[in-house]
Amino acid sequence: MARCADVLVLGGGPAALCIASELNQRGVAVEGIAPEPVDAPWPNTYGIWVDELKALDLDHLIEHRWSDTVSYFGSGGSEAADQPLVHGIDYGLFDRAALQRYWLKRADGVLWHKDFAERVEAGAEHTLVSCASGEVRKARLVIDASGASSPHIRRPDQGPVAGQAAYGLVGRFSEAPISSGRFVLMDYRSNHLSEKQHLEPPTFLYAMDLGDGVFFVEETSLALAPGVAYDVLQQRLKQRLEHRGVQITEVLHEEFCLFPMNLPLPDRNQPLLAFGGSASMVHPASGYMVGSLLRRGPGLAEALAAALADPSLGSVDLARRGWQALWPMELVLRHQLYQFGLGRLMGFNEQLLRRHFATFFSLPREDWFGFLTNTLPLPRLMGVMLRLFALSPWELRQGLVLGASQHKAPRFRQ
Ligand SMILES: Cc1cc2nc3c(=O)[nH]c(=O)nc-3n(C[C@H](O)[C@H](O)[C@H](O)COP(=O)(O)OP(=O)(O)OC[C@H]3O[C@@H](n4cnc5c(N)ncnc54)[C@H](O)[C@@H]3O)c2cc1C
Repeated sequence: MARCADVLVLGGGPAALCIASELNQRGVAVEGIAPEPVDAPWPNTYGIWVDELKALDLDHLIEHRWSDTVSYFGSGGSEAADQPLVHGIDYGLFDRAALQRYWLKRADGVLWHKDFAERVEAGAEHTLVSCASGEVRKARLVIDASGASSPHIRRPDQGPVAGQAAYGLVGRFSEAPISSGRFVLMDYRSNHLSEKQHLEPPTFLYAMDLGDGVFFVEETSLALAPGVAYDVLQQRLKQRLEHRGVQITEVLHEEFCLFPMNLPLPDRNQPLLAFGGSASMVHPASGYMVGSLLRRGPGLAEALAAALADPSLGSVDLARRGWQALWPMELVLRHQLYQFGLGRLMGFNEQLLRRHFATFFSLPREDWFGFLTNTLPLPRLMGVMLRLFALSPWELRQGLVLGASQHKAPRFRQ
């Protein structure tokens, strides 16, 4: 059996690198287990509002940046539908390699094992992790950062988990699919859809100009259980582009995206700690998480470093301190509010969604930005949600209070 590490991190994605690096910076002896080399390129692209990174002084980690950031929430084929709603703040795409290097540099000294954690057995003193290689590793605390589908983390069963599904491609086109130099957060225009398709779950376009004639276009559904099928999304994207007279001439990369939006919070009494997707840190309203890792990683590492300094504390006590630091009551309550909001939105038909988002983005910028980035204190978040309710037209209010199914909106696949 290997020696006992202070902390053993499972995973090699953003969450694992973030928490391993923050602990390492605080002098904690950290080891990690990841099936791929930790400097192997990540498969996903990560977007973020630039101000989120500026607040952390990390905006140099951005590779692409747009100031022309818009959405479309108009209805049908009316002229107003083609009028973009201007967001007025910059959006960026991470330079994934730079973000990885940033964390790996701070994690210099962490011992990584190329392996796969198969079984985790937590005792009061220490935790054992049995790996695919046959190796058994031991640590005072194990942090599971192996993503949202980790089998090691206990969480309540609250029914089917809704996923955000998207099909996207980076490519070249017969002509620009969106205005040059632009970022489109949500294009809910749907005049390319048939009457029957209008009754199906709504989807929107998320798109950006990457320069040199290359664009990223992605057909996305908000959150559904089960998620919208990839072939439906792919077909809708093609239909949307064709309606605008745009042909795909070269596919450079395809993205198939499905991740849970309303994963219940983990049981915070378990002797195994989690971080990232496995800790339900994905924002239930926006689906984003990387900004949250960067904001919450240092505080968690600080609390754990302080607890680890007490040699009498074993896995159970250390994990308890960790859960308290990661999910204090304020964040738990905010998360519940977001989950409530998402639950309501999931029942909305296309028309209600358009109205909802148009109303949402008419809020003062700091309010919608704070809501989307989970940076508003609880009382302010509640205030924003009440304000949103007050600004909403009657039909929308009814949907927000009763749930859309109460007033005969088309039901989506369950
Ligand atoms: C396609 C897509 C696009 C997204 N876009 C954004 C975005 O634009 N902005 C944003 O903020 N968020 C985005 N998200 C949400 C979220 O930030 C990502 O899902 C993020 O990758 C989650 O990070 P993670 O480290 O928790 O998990 P993952 O990235 O899933 O990493 C899990 C890691 O654990 C390893 N692993 C798995 N099982 C084991 C095991 N048993 N033992 C050891 N290692 C294991 C995996 O190999 C991997 O290295 C997106 C998600 C997806 C799926």
